[in-house]
This record gives sequence, C-alpha cells and structure tokens, in this order.
Amino acid sequence: MKRIIYIVSFLILVSCSLFKHGYKVKKDKTAIEYANTITSDELKKHLYVIASDEYEGRETGRKGQRMTAEYLKNELVKYGVKPGNNGSYFQKFPLIETAKPDATISLHNKDFEFLKDFYFFESYAEFTTFDIPMDQIVSAEYGIIDGERDDYKNINVKGKTIVINADSPSEFKNWDWKKKVALAKEKGAKNVLFISKNYQNNLTRLSHFLEGSSMKLASDVKKKEKPYIPFVFISDELASEMFRTESNIDDDFIARYPLYNTFVFNYLYNSKTIESSNVLGFIEGSDEKLKEEIIIVTAHYDHLGIKDGLVYNGADDDGTGTVALLEIAQALQMAKNAGKGLKRSVLIMPVSAEEKGLLGSRYYTENPVYPIKNTVVDLNIDMIGRLDEHHKKSNYVYVIGADKISNELHEVNEAVNKTYTKLKLDYRYNDENDPNRFYYRSDHYNFAKNGIPVIFYFSGVHEDYHKHTDVVEKIMFDKVEYITKLIFHTAWEIGNKATRLEIN
Ligand SMILES: [Zn+2]
Repeated sequence: MKRIIYIVSFLILVSCSLFKHGYKVKKDKTAIEYANTITSDELKKHLYVIASDEYEGRETGRKGQRMTAEYLKNELVKYGVKPGNNGSYFQKFPLIETAKPDATISLHNKDFEFLKDFYFFESYAEFTTFDIPMDQIVSAEYGIIDGERDDYKNINVKGKTIVINADSPSEFKNWDWKKKVALAKEKGAKNVLFISKNYQNNLTRLSHFLEGSSMKLASDVKKKEKPYIPFVFISDELASEMFRTESNIDDDFIARYPLYNTFVFNYLYNSKTIESSNVLGFIEGSDEKLKEEIIIVTAHYDHLGIKDGLVYNGADDDGTGTVALLEIAQALQMAKNAGKGLKRSVLIMPVSAEEKGLLGSRYYTENPVYPIKNTVVDLNIDMIGRLDEHHKKSNYVYVIGADKISNELHEVNEAVNKTYTKLKLDYRYNDENDPNRFYYRSDHYNFAKNGIPVIFYFSGVHEDYHKHTDVVEKIMFDKVEYITKLIFHTAWEIGNKATRLEIN
C-alpha cells in the first residue's frame, strides 16, 4: 500500500516537472563547434601530468598540490583566461594541520606510550599536560546516574581526576563515553581516565584514524569551543600499575622521586599553520547586464598524497574533473576570443582541501570573490572516468542535486543532453535518503548550502576508489570527453539563456 502511494505521488511529481516548463534546447552550431575542441587526447595529456608520480598525489599543503596549482594556472594563462581573484589566479587560505600529538604518561618511574598504553581524541577537549598525585584519583564505577543508579552518590569529584569504566551494563547501553564525560564535567571533575575490557579492540579500530594528521580551516579552529573535559582511555597494564601499591617507600625515596606516586600526563599539541589555494580563472560575459551573473564550474584538484611510500595518484578522483575544467575553460575562452562568448560570466575554479573535508570550496563560499547572490549555479565534477558496478557501458553519468534548488536547472541539463550528448542520466543517487549521501560529499554541497543551484556530475565509485591503484591507465578518456561536453553545453545554455535559473 505504502509503495503504491509512493509511486502515485512520484508520477504526479514527474508529470509536473515535465509539463510545467517543457524546457527545449535548439541545436546551436557555435556551441557544437566549441564543444568539439574538448578532446580525449587533450584530457589525456593533462591527466598524464597531474596524475603522474611526480605530482605526489596532490595532497593539500604539500609540494604536489602546489605543483598542480601552478600547472593549472599556466594552462589558464596559455588559453588567455584571466585571473579570477582581483588580479591573481589563486585564492590562498590558511589551514591548521594537526599531526599525531606527542604524549606520554609516567607513573612509578615507568613511561607509557601513546597508541599502545593509552589514547584520546584531541578534537573533543582542551588537552594540556597534567600531574595528579594518585591519592587525588577517585573511582566512579561506570560514571552513570540513571534511575536508581547513582555512581556519584558517595564521592566528591570536584577538581578530581576520576576513573570510569567505559563499558556500560546492558540496561544502560545508551551511556556511551561522551555521555559519561559530559556528566563528569557537570559534576565538576577535572579529567576522566577510562578503563575498558574492549581497550585493545577499540585501539586497533581507531589507531589508523588517530595516527594520521588532520586539517581544518584556520577560521574554524579559532571560534570552536571544545565540549568536554580531558579524557584518556588507558590499557589494562596502565590501570593495574595505577592500582598497585608500593610497600617499601620511605621519605628518602620520595625526596629522590617526587613524582613517583604521581600520574603525569605529558602532552604536546602538534600543530602548524599551512597554506593551500583554490585556482580561479575568469571568463567575463559579453552582455553588459548579464555579465554580473556568475556560473561557477568546480572540481577538486587535491588528492590523498603519499601513504606508506605509495603515491595515491587520484587519476579518477579527481584528476578527471580537474582536467575537464581545463578543457571547458579553453573552449569557452576560444569562443570569447572569436566574439562568440557567453553573455554571463564563468568562474573556472579547481579547489583544494576537498579530501580534508570540502574545505577549499567552503573557504570560497565563506569568502566569495563574486557575490553569492550573483552566483547562478555551481556545476561540480568529481570522478567521471570509470565504470561502477551498476553499469557495463560507459555512456552514463550520475546527476545529483540538479532539481533540489532549481527544477529548471534539472530541465536544462536534461534538454541539453537530449539535444547534444545523449548520455544516460542516472538519478539513482539523487535521493536525500540514499545511504551513500553523495549529495553531501563533494564541493557542490557548500554552494547548495548557500541556496545556489548545483549539479554534481559523477560516474560512481569503483574498486580503486581512495587506493593507490586509482591510476591514469585505467581512465576511459572517451567517457571523460562526453561527460565534459555535456557540462560544457549545460554551462553554455545557462550562460546564454534570457532569464536567470528559476529557484524552486
Ligand atoms: Zn573526489
């Protein structure tokens, strides 16, 4: 029953969108002429450069990323595309890179190691070095107050360090470590030491994530207040060391080792400011009024860099989108040079720090060079060179997000495809409830968040996704070519149409 209702409402939706506008695109010989300058040979030539080992996997803040930015800029200069940021081809932005912290714990003249004997999550609390005499450490069992249960009943934890069992009894399964730290903070405790019978499993599961470095926009680091008091998960060995009492300790011994009975947490926050950049090429529109309106085409040029001595070339992710931008820029600039350019302006913007959390595109939308209110659309390209498990032939592309903000955009893209490129537009992932959540996972999302219509062009994940085997030899360049042509034609149509894209 439910399913039928769903289908009926779906049909109503489909028919509305089909007949409301009925957007049609007439074949434009000029558009075809310039679309034909987009060739798999040129796409290939560029990708063989930026996805080579020499470019070291293009990691944000590293040499390979800067080399790629230079390469992209030099290409834009060659085509005659103007700098997009007040005379510069770059929009530079600061990032805070946090590496694995330097941390040790000492007790009873023994040193304990980070990621072996203990671990913690830096981003949740303001960690500093601390010393606690053992007699200031109190146990609060499971650290739970719930119904009849009150693990704080007979203890005073104000200003103290407390030991809590991270594993909750089955009837209190909703008490995770976060909830326990929050309660400890409320009770006035200073720090929490967690013990757990799952310590080793948890450490194994988390260490990959805890070892690596992370990057954040510098502007975020300043404003964000951390929610918890410091907490450390400790191993069984360290826990039993804590509860071991020494019998033959005299005043002499204590004089020599004043910190012997003190739990010393040594901590060094390991962060530095680095710089990355978005690359901006600007093709000004020819219409005096409409040139104020901006079409943005994005792809991220950064990838994962080098890990364990292996270069992650990121040929598909997102080498393909990056080289597509170059070909679109060249085609549009050639048209402009011949006096046949678009009425609206186009910003070609390869962004960086996508792999660090869509940071480059967010920096742009928080510090836009062209007003957000004048930004008509963002066409974003991320991975368009491979086949995924749902397809056997290469003539498809996933279209994601097109109708979310502007139904008209969806129709323009459909009509353009019908007239020129005739690809299979696959809408399988264009569903807010899709578990893959692709709509939220690339740079277009930062534009969508600001009310700007977007399309995310994507050809799906494959077995080499985020692996060092995502190499240029596996790219289907004919596929990259025809998807790039579709995006070019969509930009062309939006760039010349009489009215701005309608917002839903
Ligand atoms: Zn990507």
